[in-house]
Amino acid sequence: MPEGKIIKALSGFYYVANGDEVIQCRGRGVFRKNKITPLVGDHVVFQAENKDEGYVLEVKERKNELVRPPIANVDQAILVFSAVQPGFSTHLLDRFLTLIEHNHIRPIICISKIDLLDEEEEAEIAKYVEYYQSIGYDVLLTSANEEESVQKVIPYLENQITVFAGQSGVGKSSLLNALRPELELKTNDISSHLGRGKHTTRHVELIEIGNGLVADTPGFSSLDFIGIEAEDLSFCFPEIREYSVNCKFRGCLHVAEPKCAVKEAVESGEIKKYRYDHYLTFLEEIKDRKPRY
Ligand code: GDP
Ligand code: ZN
Repeated sequence: MPEGKIIKALSGFYYVANGDEVIQCRGRGVFRKNKITPLVGDHVVFQAENKDEGYVLEVKERKNELVRPPIANVDQAILVFSAVQPGFSTHLLDRFLTLIEHNHIRPIICISKIDLLDEEEEAEIAKYVEYYQSIGYDVLLTSANEEESVQKVIPYLENQITVFAGQSGVGKSSLLNALRPELELKTNDISSHLGRGKHTTRHVELIEIGNGLVADTPGFSSLDFIGIEAEDLSFCFPEIREYSVNCKFRGCLHVAEPKCAVKEAVESGEIKKYRYDHYLTFLEEIKDRKPRY
């Protein structure tokens, strides 16, 4: 039986890509009994009735599953943060990184609108760029109206399913449009935007950019920590994770113990203080289970 990947789901049809062909399929068979609804991104077994039509017979095990947008098997998320308008927020960035790390998705940090920076602001951003790179993240600097900077994104998409994430107005649609002009997503003018909810599209589609597949709808609109336990949090911060394995206190949350390895690394400056502070803020939030953002 042939296998393929669902790249679009619409009105009860699943569009399954198999090499260069896309077969319009309906669902049939076993997965229905298991109450599995096929999702975009699913790897499926299908049966072709003819050249263009067929049936999805089986959904392969997923490595993850996003709710908004509904996509399975997401490999990576490009977190778009504008350098200005809205201003760069490490708090929000660390919040996104935490959620994405927790979902076992590879984060790529993209700082957008760098064309709007003066020299001083550029130097300020460069310090953060260096730190995030030093703890293992890829960081891209882009400006949607500079072709060269946009093209830097393409190699990162190769063979991956990618979602874009980030606040409203940071330039996600502009970047996607620049990557694939024929797409023409509606951009959102910051002065007139209507706030939340405008990204609620009825269907999601994976579009081919370069040699990769990219979700046409941005993800991670909900930014609370539901599902993350206090003990999980240090694993979402690579540099805290690194020191926490050396921490000799079992079950240590790296808050109160004076000789805790993580706290020592914060004091010596190996872990940046602001990152540790965000860790503590998120930890409090998880303990209270009340979203504060
Ligand atoms: P989204 O809500 O994240 O999809 O953001 P949009 O792509 O709709 O962009 C919001 C606003 O920022 C629009 O007015 C864009 O023209 C503008 N914008 C986006 N990217 C850039 C950029 O790289 N440079 C500049 N100067 N403006 C940008
Ligand atoms: Zn500790």
